[in-house]
Amino acid sequence: NLSQAHLSVRTTCPYCGVGCGVKATPKGDGTVEIAGDAGHAANSGKLCVKGSALGETVGLDGRLLYPQLRGADGLRRVSWDAALDQVAGDWQAIIAEHGPDAVALYVSGQLLTEDYYIANKLMKGYVGSANIDTNSRLCMSSAVAGHKRAFGEDLVPVCYEDLELADMVVLVGSNTAWCHPILFQRIARAKEARPEMKLVVIDPRRTATCELADLHLPVKPGTDVWLFNGLLSYLARIGAVAPDFIAAHTRGLESALATANVECADPLEVAKICRVDPAALMEFYEAFAATAKVITAFSQGVNQSSAGTDKANSIINCHLIGGRIGQPGMGPFSITGQPNAMGGREVGGLANMLAAHMDLEQPAHRELVQTFWDSPRIADHGGHKAVDLFKAIEAGTVKAVWIIATNPVVSMPDADQIKRALAKCQLVVVSDIVQNTDTNDFAHVLLPALGWGEKDGTVTNSERRISRQRAFLPAPGEARADWQILCQFAQRMGYEGFDFDGVHAVFDEHARLSAHQNGNAPGEVARVFNIGALAALSRNEYDALEPVQWPAVRLADGRVEVSQRLFGDGRFAHADGKARFIATTPRAPVNAVCEDFPLALNTGRVRDQWHTMTRTGKSAKLADHVAESFVDMHPQDALLHGVREGELARVSTKWGAMVARVQHGGGIARGSVFIPIHWSGQSASDARVGALVNPVVDPVSGEPEFKHTPVRVEQF
Ligand code: SF4
Repeated sequence: NLSQAHLSVRTTCPYCGVGCGVKATPKGDGTVEIAGDAGHAANSGKLCVKGSALGETVGLDGRLLYPQLRGADGLRRVSWDAALDQVAGDWQAIIAEHGPDAVALYVSGQLLTEDYYIANKLMKGYVGSANIDTNSRLCMSSAVAGHKRAFGEDLVPVCYEDLELADMVVLVGSNTAWCHPILFQRIARAKEARPEMKLVVIDPRRTATCELADLHLPVKPGTDVWLFNGLLSYLARIGAVAPDFIAAHTRGLESALATANVECADPLEVAKICRVDPAALMEFYEAFAATAKVITAFSQGVNQSSAGTDKANSIINCHLIGGRIGQPGMGPFSITGQPNAMGGREVGGLANMLAAHMDLEQPAHRELVQTFWDSPRIADHGGHKAVDLFKAIEAGTVKAVWIIATNPVVSMPDADQIKRALAKCQLVVVSDIVQNTDTNDFAHVLLPALGWGEKDGTVTNSERRISRQRAFLPAPGEARADWQILCQFAQRMGYEGFDFDGVHAVFDEHARLSAHQNGNAPGEVARVFNIGALAALSRNEYDALEPVQWPAVRLADGRVEVSQRLFGDGRFAHADGKARFIATTPRAPVNAVCEDFPLALNTGRVRDQWHTMTRTGKSAKLADHVAESFVDMHPQDALLHGVREGELARVSTKWGAMVARVQHGGGIARGSVFIPIHWSGQSASDARVGALVNPVVDPVSGEPEFKHTPVRVEQF
């Protein structure tokens, strides 16, 4: 009851994939008191500095409150009817003239699962195009592709507790201390209780995460596959393998090993390529071989690469060879960046997926989904992945794009290309909570959406735990929930199947689809993702839904079975039940440093900011940590390139340029520089690092290479 101030509401933090439970208590004076939810398994009552500051970010300053249409005199306020009629009319005309692939949705891991579900259903089942992609493409699509290749389905085998049960935690390409702080605290407490627990960090930078590490391997950027192929080769050579597990539950070891042995059989050679101390590399290899309970957790340093999928599989290979999977305290673990990256994957919110973990390329899967939806059509080929989508917009083949809860003019690689694309686009619709963003500057139609604290739905965190986000603030202005906006649009398009009497009904349909014909009988499509036990919840039951991990299946006797970890029975999701080793041939980043651009640009987060700062930017406390963008570089590189700490430098690549203040102390190795992703064109000077990043992508996942762009730094 929103009128009852001082009552606490249990909800979920919107900032990262850890998915911490939050207790929000609106006060009579308009402020909100924030505390951790002691009853949530992810965080047991603790919050990091970003989560703790949520109360400072819910004010209405700068909010987009009314629908607006752009005319000759700029944006003007209009009614919802006028705005949605306009968009529906334009989409109908474009589809009639150019076909369904001439329109697109570009959505976000900030969306709730119910929003995502409706967006995906609308595009794939009714418009008939798979042109729906998401900013999750930029952060974890390589992990998705790696899981599908190895396991047969996009499945994270472990849970957070496994990080505490492990005898060795390996963090690869992850500054967990800053980017997933509550998980890092869980690791730190486990290590304090059991100091013999080993922590290894594999990262080109000496980040805050390294402070707790027993071993830091500062690999040369982009060399992860060499390192893990070397480990695979070493484990095989010394016999640290699980022959029974390999024979019964896997396929493809011979080919993966033969490939690994081509370049990576000699650890000395691997150490040279990865630019790490050979003794330190051997210490890691020996410790891995000697430890049964190993978790290898990886994040954007692995995923955001032109070899991101192979990197993920090279890690998974090393777990499969020793059977280090499916039991407590062991397994490969992709830590997701955004709060609902996982939920988006469940509903098929990527251009190459269908809902409920089904495949767009499989006719039987398409038929199942179309029949369940009773939809007039179903997309029968993949849509444009994020980078290609904006290229298609600039080329004019995609004529209308609807951007929801994301800011691609800041966050995409080659971000100036996004500007060019949007400037040429016939119809740009943006749904957001913020009035002024770099992307909104290009909108023909602006639609006000509900934000955190105002909207209801679910999110799924990195350990497959579904949690409710609950509203505790009234809807501001005329803002509406994204799923409602999309349903109202769909009805104007003449589509049936979008008449839901509440967000619980959307969740119910999603849960029923996950269980629909999900089994091994003829004509069924077996998949592990199944939340059938959560179907048919009443509005009140949905409101009261406790955090729950999937799969959540109702057994014949009525009990609900939930799986904390997967593959304990050695059965994987490929049709033959076996996991796959994937042969991964190492390859360097696509664009090498050169005389003109001699340094490698790495990008990432700082501790106290989130994405393009549209929310965290409102908190003075969070701004205290880092006040402006910067370029972190090694002091010797600064000397060599004629720039000084504290002074402004011009940073340029083949794709763009920006000015940033030089700093040292970020733990960067020689030859690389680091610039944070958060600052935008709304800052005093245009600080969009995305404008510098090469638009190269992984050929399998389509994820961009944010961690390696050749760059020049010079005096400003
Ligand atoms: Fe929020 Fe992530 Fe911090 Fe948890 S760790 S409070 S989910 S930002």
